[in-house]
Amino acid sequence: MYRTVDASVMRQVNKQTVLSLIYQKSVTSRVAISEETGLNRATVSSLVDELIAEEFVEEIGLGSSTGGRKPILLRFNARAGYAVGVDVQITHVTSVLTNAARDVVHYQRLELEANQEHYTTDWLLAILRQEIQAVIAAMPASPHGVLGVGIALPGLINHTAGRVIYLPNLGLADWGIVEELSQWFPYPFVVDNDANCGAWSEYLTRRINNLVFVNAGVGIGSGIIINGALYRGRDGIAGESGHTTIAANGLLCSCGNYGCWEEYASERGLARYLREFGVEADIGPHFVTDSVHLAQSGDPAFRHAFQKLGESLGIGLSNVLQVLNPEVAYLGGTVAEAQSLVLGEMHRVIRHRSMDANKGTRIVVAEPTAVALGAAGLAISQAVKMVPVPTA
Ligand SMILES: [Zn+2]
Repeated sequence: MYRTVDASVMRQVNKQTVLSLIYQKSVTSRVAISEETGLNRATVSSLVDELIAEEFVEEIGLGSSTGGRKPILLRFNARAGYAVGVDVQITHVTSVLTNAARDVVHYQRLELEANQEHYTTDWLLAILRQEIQAVIAAMPASPHGVLGVGIALPGLINHTAGRVIYLPNLGLADWGIVEELSQWFPYPFVVDNDANCGAWSEYLTRRINNLVFVNAGVGIGSGIIINGALYRGRDGIAGESGHTTIAANGLLCSCGNYGCWEEYASERGLARYLREFGVEADIGPHFVTDSVHLAQSGDPAFRHAFQKLGESLGIGLSNVLQVLNPEVAYLGGTVAEAQSLVLGEMHRVIRHRSMDANKGTRIVVAEPTAVALGAAGLAISQAVKMVPVPTA
């Protein structure tokens, strides 16, 4: 009796291993899977046949051979199903629907009014329900439908428990968001920090094993990939670079500390540099875009503010580079829209403040959909690990 249970559990584990491997590789073969997993060829063949019958995997012709028979190439079926990714920021929400190969098939953006009185878990839940429903309504037919839904939030998240620990700029704390969403939708949910999602997206796309993704909007957070895996730290809150101190007796931050990097290098910093120059500045959905246009048209207050913003971004990023020594640092979030105005100053400060090895670190501006894409990618990565074995 125990033997039967063990065999079925083992088959389940092996099938998930095989599918995860096929998902991770762009193209592979039964022989390569057998070599990589140590499973014998008959087991791999039987599991792959099952996955092909279920339309998770497809055969795409013959590969090259070093002597024996040419292997049949396999890849994950991009049309097996779809994933939803939602990126919640303070001034806007970006949502995408992707196929299983992470191609965006639907995109939508909702602008939010910056208003502290709105910020309740019910308010955010209503927004998420509306956005998820609208995205799923745009989904084409497929064998497996919604593979998963990933939610990216700006703050401290317990990814394993599916709970919000603290979202400083929304003032929300201790919230079982996955449990609440699961009462409305029958799909597997994942929730993670926005910068972690951005880092995961860049990792999946480019396979750079050591990278950092700085998401700079109203606040700042970092997602860290070390040796090809997200680094989460003891409590799952690693990467809170926005709340590291860059000015010992500096400004009061929303987190309660003084002199945090995000007070100087986020949209809040930009607004304050403008006010120091006598310009009334309100953070809203078009704040950075409009400010960039004014700076580009030569307005001295806006040019000055972006120069200060670039300097502050450079100081904090230099600290991040000194700690992590990544291959690439990605700059995401709304602040990245100002790349033509801040990158030069960032490079100057990094050259001035970093050790030689870190001076030349590539800084790449991420796509505005990177975080939502990463959330969808995390949902698919999780779904692939949960594919059930049919009961015979
Ligand atoms: Zn802070």
